[in-house]
Amino acid sequence: MSGTPPSLVPTRVQLNRPLPPLTYLAPEDLPAGVRVRVKLRNSLAFGLAMGPDPSPPAAKLRPLELVLDPFPLLPPKLRELHTFAARYYGCLEANLLPLSLPQALLPNWEADEDGQRLSFHRDRGAWGVLADLGEAWHRDPALLPTLLHRALRRGAGFTEVRLTGAPHPPRVTPAQAKLLLALEEAGGSLMEPELLEAAGVGASVLNTLEKRGLVTRMKRVDLLAQRREAGTDRTVVLNDEQQTALDAVALGAFGVHLLQGVTGSGKTEVYLALAERVLAAGRRVLWLVPEIGLTGSLLDRLEARFPGRVAVGHAGLNAGEKHGDVVRLLFNGADLFVGVRNAVLAPLRDIGLIVVDEEQEGSYKSEEHPRVNARDLAIKRAQLEDCPIVLGSATPSLESWQAAQTGRYHLLRLTQRPAGITLPTVEIVDLRDAYRQARRKVIFAPPLLKALTETLARGEQSLLLLNRRGYENFWMCRACGKNLGCPHCAISLTYHRGDFRLRCHLCGHETVPPEACPDCGAEHLRGVGEGTEQVEEHLRQLFPAARILRLDRDTTRRRGSLEAGLLAAEAGHVDILVGTQMLAKGHTFPRLTLVGVINADQGLKVADFRASERTFQLLTQVAGRAGRADLQGRVILQTYSPDHPAISFALAQDFEGFAASELPFRQGLGYPPFTALSLYRAEADTPQEARGALEAFRQRLSVPGLRILGPLEAPVPRIKDRWRMHLLLKGSRGALGEVLARHPLEPAGLIHVDRDPLQFG
Ligand code: ADP
Ligand code: ZN
Repeated sequence: MSGTPPSLVPTRVQLNRPLPPLTYLAPEDLPAGVRVRVKLRNSLAFGLAMGPDPSPPAAKLRPLELVLDPFPLLPPKLRELHTFAARYYGCLEANLLPLSLPQALLPNWEADEDGQRLSFHRDRGAWGVLADLGEAWHRDPALLPTLLHRALRRGAGFTEVRLTGAPHPPRVTPAQAKLLLALEEAGGSLMEPELLEAAGVGASVLNTLEKRGLVTRMKRVDLLAQRREAGTDRTVVLNDEQQTALDAVALGAFGVHLLQGVTGSGKTEVYLALAERVLAAGRRVLWLVPEIGLTGSLLDRLEARFPGRVAVGHAGLNAGEKHGDVVRLLFNGADLFVGVRNAVLAPLRDIGLIVVDEEQEGSYKSEEHPRVNARDLAIKRAQLEDCPIVLGSATPSLESWQAAQTGRYHLLRLTQRPAGITLPTVEIVDLRDAYRQARRKVIFAPPLLKALTETLARGEQSLLLLNRRGYENFWMCRACGKNLGCPHCAISLTYHRGDFRLRCHLCGHETVPPEACPDCGAEHLRGVGEGTEQVEEHLRQLFPAARILRLDRDTTRRRGSLEAGLLAAEAGHVDILVGTQMLAKGHTFPRLTLVGVINADQGLKVADFRASERTFQLLTQVAGRAGRADLQGRVILQTYSPDHPAISFALAQDFEGFAASELPFRQGLGYPPFTALSLYRAEADTPQEARGALEAFRQRLSVPGLRILGPLEAPVPRIKDRWRMHLLLKGSRGALGEVLARHPLEPAGLIHVDRDPLQFG
């Protein structure tokens, strides 16, 4: 082979752009799955090599600009997951790649492997040799410790020293021996300062050993450094139910387990005990949480239990941190990875357990392309890894619940709360009565006002929830009946009194409120529907001495302001918290004993078959915020429809009852979990164009066994001047997959598909 220049063959390349795969000339034997850089028109683009093109276009082909990876960096099972997800969700593998690997993370071709640089093999076209190295590296990343070296050196962080595994030379000095021994005792790697201290030698010894190739230094970004000292592990003795759950999860085999238990029933302790077993067996743990805000106290618990073995990844990290994190995973430098949605695609190898906490949360589903659902992909990943997955929740999604009822998932339940923790009392206030008595609409009915007053007097905290920000939801003209709407979107503008603006919550358009109706000129404009800003104002008038804090998207726009507010509340510097549903989750306010929901029906009015389920979940969740070990909690739900199942079952805190009442409706109407859905959305400059695209698509459909609804106007028919139409397909997962296979969408076309949609707006 030496001497002959490597030959180039037509190769398909997928770009992370809305384009079909393109064909370039690439080195023969270039494995599928390596990243490449190509010229696209006059700019450079990242792409993914997909193997030779059996029928290349006749046009003259361009060569690749650069091959970026010596071999595919992602673990083979993760690549299988990408392939599956791309087919299932109708996206490209190249769209998924950035979710697994930061684009800026580039291997070092000058890395030395047995005296030969990787670039040497590349220049000879020996891709097979590189592929073998890649396979060896996937088995043990310590074999190619310098692969991402250069990138690593850049970031700030800690220097880790590890044994390279090179055979011991016959002669080492006593100082060198001490250092090697200390490293061996630490399991092969240690932070530099700790190592030097443990061995009692100077840095020059380390330098010599590095030069001789016995150890290697790696820079690593350590996100948990500040947390290291935090907290000692509080080992708990599991109660019988927890122990039963723990023993029911068979390790080393695929199985889906649904762990149901109210907040505080001890689910996390079960995950921790499982993780402990899995880590002890030498495998790794992938742990998904729905929101960044929820990771803080969890991380403390994880760090305390598994010091130094935890890594974390989420969207809030800056590029450098993300980088360090992924590098740790690529080098098997972390055994437990915690993260939000995209973490399901993290390059973690040899997974022995996946945990998905709060599995019902909508945030697991991406609402932009690629529209993957991390909960569902996690199940697929567990199947590929042949390991158990535990989905946990107090109020499981009806999809998971039904799967547990039919035996596809294994149901595990925790019914007791640990001693001392009591459930809050829940009361309903019928707003119709309040209206009759006051003869006008009231924001706080007398029972809620009384409870607020009492709670304040006791020096405890209250939380008021209203899922609508702004002062008034919209303005209407009493003379002509029209609402003041956004000129770009088909929704009304919301009044924000603090800024004196009418604002569109979809596109951000804003205007100074007019004196008179822009349509008829009458000066009879009236605001309708209170928002959090108005609730806050009323509270200040009613309780002038109280410390009131409003938390919603308007007051938390600055980075860190939400955290600051929550901290103040946790520290007891707030008497009344008012806000949107961002307050419903996860945080523990030690003195919070009263939760008031201003309008429990609010979520029921949206046209979405999951409206009941979401309302039930929200009310149950927010109720869980009230009360702690020593303080009895109280929840007040204000409603106009006390008999609605979502409200009456939330009152009883009865998930099973709710599920049993809701599932027959779903079945009757042919909705999930009994039927799968694919939502085809079209967006265009005119409604006709959007409708036309979907009609043409509908005409072409040739898959049997589907129910097709539409094209219909989307619930919000226009956003940012784009007209929106929907076509909803109902059928089996298989049939909907068949539609994707037989009728692929043009990547840059008007239509986009959303499989298993959660949002219909
Ligand atoms: P969940 O995840 O269901 O909300 P956690 O596992 O966080 O519940 O448990 C709530 C609290 O109760 C935690 O402080 C936890 O340490 C404690 N706890 C859970 N199980 C036990 C147990 N068996 N013995 C003592 N404390 C427990
Ligand atoms: Zn708008």
